[in-house]
Amino acid sequence: MRRRISIFGSTGSIGQNTVSLIEDQGGAETHEVVALTGARNIRLLAAQARKLRARIAVTSDPTRLAELRAALEGSGIEAAAGPAAIADAASEPVDWAMSAIVGAAGLVPGLRAAESGGIVALANKESLVCAGALFLATCARHGATLLPVDSEHSAIFQALNGERHDAIERIILTASGGPFRDWPREAMARVTPAQAMAHPNWDMGQRISIDSASMFNKALEIIEAHVLFGVPSERIEVVVHPQSIIHSLVGFRDGSIMAHLGPSDMRGAIGYALNWPVREPLPLDRLDLAALARLDFCAADPERFPALRLAHEVMELGGLAGAVFNAAKEAALDGFLAGAIGFLDMSVLVEHVTRDLGREAASCGSEYSLADVLELDRRARVAGRAWIETCVGA
Ligand code: NAD
Ligand code: MG
Repeated sequence: MRRRISIFGSTGSIGQNTVSLIEDQGGAETHEVVALTGARNIRLLAAQARKLRARIAVTSDPTRLAELRAALEGSGIEAAAGPAAIADAASEPVDWAMSAIVGAAGLVPGLRAAESGGIVALANKESLVCAGALFLATCARHGATLLPVDSEHSAIFQALNGERHDAIERIILTASGGPFRDWPREAMARVTPAQAMAHPNWDMGQRISIDSASMFNKALEIIEAHVLFGVPSERIEVVVHPQSIIHSLVGFRDGSIMAHLGPSDMRGAIGYALNWPVREPLPLDRLDLAALARLDFCAADPERFPALRLAHEVMELGGLAGAVFNAAKEAALDGFLAGAIGFLDMSVLVEHVTRDLGREAASCGSEYSLADVLELDRRARVAGRAWIETCVGA
């Protein structure tokens, strides 16, 4: 029987890597591809849908529906557009779904995919930051299996194979440190989006690359680890490891540490989730440890990267503080990309909005609905944009 799959965000960096691994494994011959979704790159979305003989192709942008229809003409592939159409496509039952839309926009499709009870390969860490308790409860209720795709969390998941939860002492997330690892604060204040996008080790989408430079990506990952592995805030550490060879580590109560090593290639973590629980051959470079010669580590600087401190504050708050934090971060990134605020202003904005709305957002504990998440996300973005306007006006 052919495996039924869908890929949400198939035109992105994770999405394209996923498509390529699926093609390596026989593509449409061995997979029944239900839905592929994208945003503005209609040509790529249509080409992927034709190649994998998808049933449905959806763009998030309603103004591009005609373009998508034209690109799919004669293929028999259904075209649709808009966030609701993506959510509908995610409700189509599959055995394996890749959640790789960027930002909070990935939450609803991820939840819908979980409701069909198959495997959800989760690249969209924002889902867990915004609504971790809801996401886990949805998976549990529908019998869905959640597999992390973020390289750090895939590494931790693999290091925990066969281990008992009560043996975990700490989780150590590695961080490359990004392009500004050794830059002084004054120089960081002046960086441009193009400089922030140039990640030293990983080839990723624009937004996550800039989040890596500010370490907001690591902040999201700290919260993601807290949700996924049920480890409290004070037992999650970050260590800067410039080579990005160790993808993360787990420290156990007997003093042992298990580390996961591999090349900086997301096809490792995607392929692991695709083939789980089996390890199949993957087209990755093999590590040459003698050629690498050394692996370096140093502490992360909380002064230049306040996002790390904010992540711990958000975990201490709990409830829906993560939804506020993530939305404020997305608004800050929009402001930085538009040239309205500087690189270091992003964390000032996020701190301001999280202080403003965080306590109220936290008060619900784990008793909240999807509507509560979306409302707080909306309010945090409004507050973030208002902060940017006062900045621009000043
Ligand atoms: P990307 O920007 O390259 O791709 C994002 C995808 O989402 C594209 O298909 C785009 O068309 C779609 N999209 C964008 N806005 C949308 C919207 N509003 N509604 C619906 N679809 C929309 O991003 P990426 O780097 O592939 O990252 C995707 C997710 O995976 C993010 O959550 C990111 O944090 C996570 N992740 C990425 C990497 C990586 O190496 N790229 C590693 C770990 C985790
Ligand atoms: Mg990561």
